[in-house]
Amino acid sequence: MGESFDIIIVGAGIVGAACAAACARGGLRVLVVDRGPVGGGTTAAGMGHLVVLDDSQAQFALTYYSRSLWHQLAGLLPADVEYNQCGTLWVASDEEEMAEVRRKEKLYAAAGVHAEVLDGLELEELEPNLRPGVAGGLRVPEDAVLYPPSAARFLLEQAQQQGAQVRTGVSVRSLLGEGGVVLADGSRVSAGRTVSATGPWAPELTPGLPVRKRKGHLVITERYPGFVNHQIVELGYLKSAHGAGKDSVAFNIQPRKNGQMLIGSSRQYEAEDTAVDQPILDRMLNRALEYLPSLGQLSAIRVWTGHRAATPDKLPLIGPSQESDRIWLATGHEGLGITTSLGTAGLLADLLLDRATAIPAAPYSPARFAKTSSVND
Ligand SMILES: Cc1cc2nc3c(=O)[nH]c(=O)nc-3n(C[C@H](O)[C@H](O)[C@H](O)COP(=O)(O)OP(=O)(O)OC[C@H]3O[C@@H](n4cnc5c(N)ncnc54)[C@H](O)[C@@H]3O)c2cc1C
Repeated sequence: MGESFDIIIVGAGIVGAACAAACARGGLRVLVVDRGPVGGGTTAAGMGHLVVLDDSQAQFALTYYSRSLWHQLAGLLPADVEYNQCGTLWVASDEEEMAEVRRKEKLYAAAGVHAEVLDGLELEELEPNLRPGVAGGLRVPEDAVLYPPSAARFLLEQAQQQGAQVRTGVSVRSLLGEGGVVLADGSRVSAGRTVSATGPWAPELTPGLPVRKRKGHLVITERYPGFVNHQIVELGYLKSAHGAGKDSVAFNIQPRKNGQMLIGSSRQYEAEDTAVDQPILDRMLNRALEYLPSLGQLSAIRVWTGHRAATPDKLPLIGPSQESDRIWLATGHEGLGITTSLGTAGLLADLLLDRATAIPAAPYSPARFAKTSSVND
């Protein structure tokens, strides 16, 4: 490998693939290296819900920007990406959660995000399998779902059409402060800058990075077209996703285009193995049954786990690392990396090419964590 590149991207998950496409489109000479196949890491384990979330202003800005980029790309996505603008239904169990529904609707409306407050009966009409008696909910019709590994492959093909090179089955041993990487066989490849898009494994290449593995379980069923028609999520999901507790579950179901139902989700720290954890799986499915009692009649065919890359403030790390301005980061996307891959790539390419960014980039800068940051902060 005697060549030199402007950018080496380590990681061919959806974030690395999106960054490669944006950098190659910007005229940079790009090499993407992954020790596994394209989209075979967390991207293969994720749910593929493209969603606007508002846990913080910065999260809202990045998810909204990213969703608008997905909308722009939607017409180009091949059928196997299974893009489906089915919308999100946030379900409120009681009046307290309805207050949150109204707060969200106001905030979204002010920012131009279309959302509709629904009462319990309207919800039942849209989703007859939901248990009767829920208080109501919020419908966000422009949210969507897709199949993440195919989306990663598509983005990488876009990069390749612009001249990017992709090498799979090649492990990176270390990132060089002067730019470039050392591969597992000891050879070096030089580049102006390196981007670590290595998801939950980022601390292996950048020790001390404030990224922790947060395990999640998903279950997929046989095909039951129309069992649900939206990505349905309990409002309590927000507490589960944003709480710092060790273990949590929340009801979340996605209708796949082929009729399969994808059911989530759980969150666990200090669970680095990939084994299915039966007690947490039971809790997760019991939670889903509370919202969809007839789910018990469906046949599940597979269960798997994956690890989200969690940062202390629930925002990704996008930009130059603390170690060197030639080592950049695009990681820490927790449970939103499918959604925010495109926004991450847009910001990263704009920063690398000295262009104005579409949204302020500072909230995602790795510089927000002092060098002494501990992963337990
Ligand atoms: C259960 C679950 C549900 C989720 N649901 C959603 C959802 O509905 N919506 C959403 O937006 N997000 C969701 N996510 C999050 C999303 O899946 C991730 O944020 C996203 O896939 C991260 O992509 P990535 O490219 O950063 O990482 P990855 O896909 O993990 O890619 C990193 C790549 O780096 C490679 N790599 C690592 N180290 C090296 C090395 N030393 N040398 C070479 N290659 C290396 C790996 O092989 C891997 O391919 C979910 C995640 C989980 C676990």
